[in-house]
Amino acid sequence: MNGLKSLIIFTLFILPLTLWSGEREGHGGGLAEQNIMTARLHLAEFITISLSSSVVTFDDEEREVLESILSNFEQELTSKIIFKSGTNDEVDFYIDGQLRVAKTYDYPGATIWINLDLIYLEKMGVIRPMSLTQAVTLLVHEYGHHQKFYDHSFLDTLGAKVAKVLQNNIYKLPLSRNYREVVVMTIDSNFEESFSSLLIRDSFDLIDVTKQLKTKLNFCRKGKQNLQEKLVGFYLENFHWGSRLWKGDTLSGRLVFNATIVCKRGNGNNYIINLGAKTLNLLFKKEETLIRFLYKQTFKDN
Ligand SMILES: [Zn+2]
Repeated sequence: MNGLKSLIIFTLFILPLTLWSGEREGHGGGLAEQNIMTARLHLAEFITISLSSSVVTFDDEEREVLESILSNFEQELTSKIIFKSGTNDEVDFYIDGQLRVAKTYDYPGATIWINLDLIYLEKMGVIRPMSLTQAVTLLVHEYGHHQKFYDHSFLDTLGAKVAKVLQNNIYKLPLSRNYREVVVMTIDSNFEESFSSLLIRDSFDLIDVTKQLKTKLNFCRKGKQNLQEKLVGFYLENFHWGSRLWKGDTLSGRLVFNATIVCKRGNGNNYIINLGAKTLNLLFKKEETLIRFLYKQTFKDN
């Protein structure tokens, strides 16, 4: 804690509807924490998409913040995000007399402390974890402080703009009417050489299966010397369930979507292949009222 007092502490304050004081399973493994860590992992991608998007416009100062976050992003990924409760732990989230969602310092790679008491909010008896888009708003704000921008409301607006682009590029398919919280999510990028992300949210976790999909969709041709040409991007659309079949406690969901892939030749030129409809068989398990995505069983053949 050396020098802590001399450092400026920056914060973000989101108005809570009510504070949730109930019990919750574990620390660091809940849906809000998962959303925040996923937002962090994909933040450079979300910012890059935003900068090229026509959904929002950024002024020069806003661009400067985002470009600065991008240029320092490798360093940001090595830094820590620590989840603590202000009521039970040693971290004081009261700053200037107000309870804050997060606090950090003003240099790239600084630890970000996130207040567990404020990332699960209760609305009409339902507990809502901080969403992926809210997490993006939060992190743009905090990483903005790392770039030595100090105006909280300016950073809130900037974070909300990036989140708006994400909202526009995200598509969610619920598992079924009875399990609406379980969703398959795809996030599009606006670039030819980039991959649509595919994420699965079950009752417990948010799982990124983009990597597995890269293996499944690598239909690039063999080039000179029989070398496989490189898959450099894909675009996924028109998601729907082909079928969903229960067998005991296990649900087998046939996810159907259209895939277009981008491959790079040895000479550096790209070509595009429309693969048409592809399917992915996703397995889920019912655990009382909850649903678990069976990640290992689903992808065991790869
Ligand atoms: Zn702030």
